[in-house]
Amino acid sequence: MPDRHPELRAAVRAFAEAEIAPRIPHMEASGAIEDGLVREMARQGWIGVTIPAAYGGMGAGHEAKTALVDELSRVSAAMGAAVQASILGTAKIDHFGTEEQREEWLPQVADGSVLPTIAVTEAASGGHVLGMASTGRRKGRGWILDGRKVFVGNSHIGGLHGVVVRTGDGARGLTAFLVEHDRKGVSLAPHEPRVGLRGFSFGELILDGVRVPESHRVGEVGEGLAVAYSSSVLYGRLNLAAVALGIHRAVLGQTVDFVSGRPRIAGEGVVRDRLGQIAADLRVAELAVYHAARRLDRAEPCDMDLITAKLQAVEAVRRATDLGMQTHGAAGLLTSMPMERYLRDALCVEPPAGTSDIQRHRLAEEALDPSRHVQWSQRFARPLTPPSVALAHSA
Ligand SMILES: Cc1cc2nc3c(=O)[nH]c(=O)nc-3n(C[C@H](O)[C@H](O)[C@H](O)COP(=O)(O)OP(=O)(O)OC[C@H]3O[C@@H](n4cnc5c(N)ncnc54)[C@H](O)[C@@H]3O)c2cc1C
Repeated sequence: MPDRHPELRAAVRAFAEAEIAPRIPHMEASGAIEDGLVREMARQGWIGVTIPAAYGGMGAGHEAKTALVDELSRVSAAMGAAVQASILGTAKIDHFGTEEQREEWLPQVADGSVLPTIAVTEAASGGHVLGMASTGRRKGRGWILDGRKVFVGNSHIGGLHGVVVRTGDGARGLTAFLVEHDRKGVSLAPHEPRVGLRGFSFGELILDGVRVPESHRVGEVGEGLAVAYSSSVLYGRLNLAAVALGIHRAVLGQTVDFVSGRPRIAGEGVVRDRLGQIAADLRVAELAVYHAARRLDRAEPCDMDLITAKLQAVEAVRRATDLGMQTHGAAGLLTSMPMERYLRDALCVEPPAGTSDIQRHRLAEEALDPSRHVQWSQRFARPLTPPSVALAHSA
């Protein structure tokens, strides 16, 4: 598939190889959160890749964003995940914010001074967003927020959390708010070690009687489910698919290098079969992911393409890491080799923005009754400014 963003891709690749790759051994060994690198990437303007140019962003759209996250994740899925998590955090302000909120926050996100997050998931309700227990209640001219959000991307370095809480009953009973990280009553649980994506914080945010003014509400009262879904459907599925794609490219590259250096196994049919399968799966995932991104940039109704892209890319990278590990034999188990990192990172991209079970469930619902659900892409996507304008801005 032709690369429509070669300059952006080249800039990201140069940064990833020069700045991120040397930090990986430290990230892996310590598990420490990579605050500095994420902020440096934010200063490149990358969190603002989809933010309209009128608010200081690159205005380059979802395909450019996909190329950016894909390219970063080829070197470090953790850093790809960190960048996509804050890109995800821009959606609510861009699509639901008031003009004042857009003018206040989007330029700060675009220039890298504020890292936004989206905090929806809770331990007991997981992917069932309507099951959340965190609350928001009116007090005077503002709101008091209470609850705990888990697995929040960039939880420990984010400056502006986008929190969805229950303010009433039923599906129209959720509301979204902007919460600064240093507001009274906001705290973070210690970041537990994760199996993969080491260096990326996806931890627990605690809200204990946090008072926010009415001006911090995003969207209407009762529109929180739409805020949450627009983030995960419009941005999250493609973002995580891009992380999966990047890991998959790395698995293919590493496995080719490994096999090429071992004439004893390089000619074996079973080894070549595995390489062929990894390569074929990568091409199919790439087609699905970039096809969905292009449709989204054309503001076409493409929810099913976004779901399919996430499902295909995640399932493909799980299979690729398995075949890659088998091909490496015992060498794949060495932590000095990158294969085991790819395997661990690939495990982490399945749950966010919906597990594969949920993606298949949605595809089945659509197959059975296409009129049942609103197409979020149709509702919120906007056609991209011509790429020449967007790229001139980013250059
Ligand atoms: C790397 C990473 C980043 C993340 N970033 C964010 C973020 O920025 N913000 C945020 O709010 N959350 C984030 N999350 C959380 C993510 O959204 C949840 O992991 C996801 O919604 C699934 O919830 P759960 O993991 O609790 O699984 P559960 O929903 O508890 O599911 C557990 C199991 O049950 C299955 N299951 C559940 N419901 C159904 C069903 N209806 N039909 C069939 N099977 C079902 C699932 O497929 C899974 O196998 C992140 C998670 C990860 C791992």
